[in-house]
Amino acid sequence: HAKGCGKNVYSLFDKRMNEHASERVTLLADLRQAIEQGEFVLHYQPKVDLLTGKVTSVEALVRWMHPRLGMLAPDKFIRLAEEGGMIAELTEWVMRTACLQARAWQEADLAPVRVAVNLSPFHFQRQDVKQSICAVLGSTGLDPALLEIEITESALMQNDEYTCRVLSELRDMGITISVDDFGTGYSSLSYLHRFPINTLKIDRTFILNMMKSSEDQAIVTAIIAMAKSLKMQIVAEGVESVDQLETLKDQGCHEIQGFLVSRPVNAERVARFFTDEDHLQAHTAAADTLEG
Ligand code: C2E
Ligand code: MG
Ligand code: MG
Ligand code: MG
Repeated sequence: HAKGCGKNVYSLFDKRMNEHASERVTLLADLRQAIEQGEFVLHYQPKVDLLTGKVTSVEALVRWMHPRLGMLAPDKFIRLAEEGGMIAELTEWVMRTACLQARAWQEADLAPVRVAVNLSPFHFQRQDVKQSICAVLGSTGLDPALLEIEITESALMQNDEYTCRVLSELRDMGITISVDDFGTGYSSLSYLHRFPINTLKIDRTFILNMMKSSEDQAIVTAIIAMAKSLKMQIVAEGVESVDQLETLKDQGCHEIQGFLVSRPVNAERVARFFTDEDHLQAHTAAADTLEG
């Protein structure tokens, strides 16, 4: 009996695997078409300086407007694009679109705002990553000082020497280099120090757990202290509450990004943050009233 039962489990498992596999095959074919047909859009999320409440830069986050499935978040298709060999093409589209948008904002006489683009580790290991960034900057005419790239710790840990050289060249051009989701990989700050990094972005999970776990709080405190001593800028990701904002401010964190300030929104909507206003005032004023 046990045997029969096991067999059923396996055939059910096989069936699910097959369904999953065929879903993937369909989505992969869709993705090829999507790149040709331009089914992607960028949303932008502001990063805000904790002292002034002003926008320091905006992060471009890609979405796929799938004709049948609606808007898909990047976790539904970035890995697929990597595995399907399409990530370079997608990244180039993202970079070009983000740089054109930053130019358009500049030409509309809004204060110049830097735009941050996420680079997949797969893309980063390609020999011509610098060339492709230069080509985009050349064709869009964007000042390199208005471009930021976000790379993950895992990208840093592969092919050490090559990564370090490319990053140095990009930074020499005036591009800002950020490490994304910091704390989730296995790199130490002393290792990071070997790379020309401007900014560390503390992963959202630490910010999420910080208010209820003293260990997470201690990690955040340590990251901020060490990053500061290495003269790096620190951004906290995923800030959703005033409590988190206040705690991070007390710790001396430089910038925050998260739903508290804004969800990622389209280019038109994010532009309302490009003013001299203090975008944190409303939140902190509300907290002061509660306290007082
Ligand atoms: P990421 O670069 O760490 O981007 C931040 C993610 O956290 C975004 O998710 C954003 O919507 C979300 N987020 C921001 N603030 C909050 C918050 O307060 N609470 C919560 N719960 N979430 C918040 P999104 O847009 O779904 O992107 C997920 C990941 O996909 C990104 O993580 C990035 O690694 C990747 N990604 C996005 N766009 C691109 C792209 O153009 N190229 C590549 N290679 N990867 C991308
Ligand atoms: Mg990012
Ligand atoms: Mg991140
Ligand atoms: Mg993250």
